[in-house]
Amino acid sequence: MALKILVLGGTGEGRLLAEQLARDPRYDSLLSFAGRTSSLVRPTLPHRVGGFGGAEGLADFLRAGAYQALVDVTHPFAARISSNAVAAARAADVPLIRLSRPAWERRPGDDWIEVSSMAEAARALGDPARRVFLSIGKQELAAFAPAPHHHYLVRAIDQIPLTLPHAKLLSARGPFALHDELQLLQSERIELLVSKNAGTAATYPKIQAARMLRIPVIMVQRPLVPAAHEVQTLDELTQFLEALHTRSKRLGE
Ligand code: NAP
Repeated sequence: MALKILVLGGTGEGRLLAEQLARDPRYDSLLSFAGRTSSLVRPTLPHRVGGFGGAEGLADFLRAGAYQALVDVTHPFAARISSNAVAAARAADVPLIRLSRPAWERRPGDDWIEVSSMAEAARALGDPARRVFLSIGKQELAAFAPAPHHHYLVRAIDQIPLTLPHAKLLSARGPFALHDELQLLQSERIELLVSKNAGTAATYPKIQAARMLRIPVIMVQRPLVPAAHEVQTLDELTQFLEALHTRSKRLGE
């Protein structure tokens, strides 16, 4: 029998994993998206879109679908769903595994100001008006409303209305290449970069470009999420699923 797996996605790794599982007859997996981006590129593999209705809704979904594993491959800043996953897996008695990509670490030449929230990042921009690259997505732009005197370049996947007075939207979806990031920072005369510490290779070139151009980075640290069984790579994750599949076969589930 194929192992039934619910994959909480919304990331490149989530998509990669789901594609890998879909090709493997040992698994019967469903990829779940929150539905945040209006330009969601729907995969051709089994998927669903939309929230579950909190931890209880997710636990009900796991029970109703007789899922045998819950895989959290959400973004490190998607703290609510990761926390719901822990509670739901416990309530529904389903094994949970989380992919937690390592955070980026400061390297020689990096000029980072580490902050713990977007509000703190906005305060760290300071009083003089600066040209700021906001590479943080669309959800937390309101945190910069108290600092309207800066000139912002906002990069987000969707076309979104901007309420900041001096702001320009760059609608783009990663991965981004170093050469393009260098060109962007230079042509926009960026003086400060605000970034979440996402830890993914797909968006790291902006950090490299900032280092090369000696542009300071306001680096927002990751939110805390409740402990879960974590792995750092997709290989480790698939090994865990293989072991679960072998066990469930032995038990005749
Ligand atoms: P969040 O604050 O942790 O979650 C908010 C709510 O969205 C959750 O309570 C849940 O609704 C729903 N949700 C989140 N991920 C879901 C999923 N994979 N499938 C079904 N429902 C989901 O998350 P967020 O920061 O808004 O991020 C939303 C999605 O975008 C996540 O899937 C994440 O992987 C992706 N993403 C986030 C960021 C970021 O910087 N936050 C960056 C890139 C991608 P219910 O409570 O109703 O179940």
